[in-house]
Amino acid sequence: MDDRFDHEMMGYALEEARQALAKAHFPVGAVLTIGERVVATGHKAMGSNHLDHAEMVVFRAVFQGDYDYSRQDSLGLYTTLEPCIMCWGALRHLPITRLVYAMEDAYGGCAEVPDDVLPPRHRGRPVAIRRGVRRGEARALFSQFLDSTQEPFWLTGGAPEFAAAVRSSGG
Ligand SMILES: [Zn+2]
Repeated sequence: MDDRFDHEMMGYALEEARQALAKAHFPVGAVLTIGERVVATGHKAMGSNHLDHAEMVVFRAVFQGDYDYSRQDSLGLYTTLEPCIMCWGALRHLPITRLVYAMEDAYGGCAEVPDDVLPPRHRGRPVAIRRGVRRGEARALFSQFLDSTQEPFWLTGGAPEFAAAVRSSGG
């Protein structure tokens, strides 16, 4: 995939993140593509941190029930934040071969877990990763969220490594 395409797809993910922010939810958006076609978009769907992360919303839309997709279909996931352990695990389990994310998550991100610590099934199913696409725009949304949220988790200093990265002036 070329840079223009990644930039455009991340734009859809950022738009989903804006929708989450408008509902006072943590602003993560995700897009699932097959080749150059968008097949699902979603955003974090609740205030508390349980199952309906943006990635899980799009996975459920595409992989609910039986499906015919395989690793030959060039499935890609775009997300505005590096996936957590749940979403990364689901990503590795599904026939997705490429991950593009905007901002790293030093608190809970799992995309950098090395393949060689994984069991054989997952080691043999590599995922190509591209990082930092439209990072500044994603970071700006997280900054707006941290400035406005009333969630106790954040108000009491939750995810300090992530919050520090959002507050830093970098890109
Ligand atoms: Zn997640």
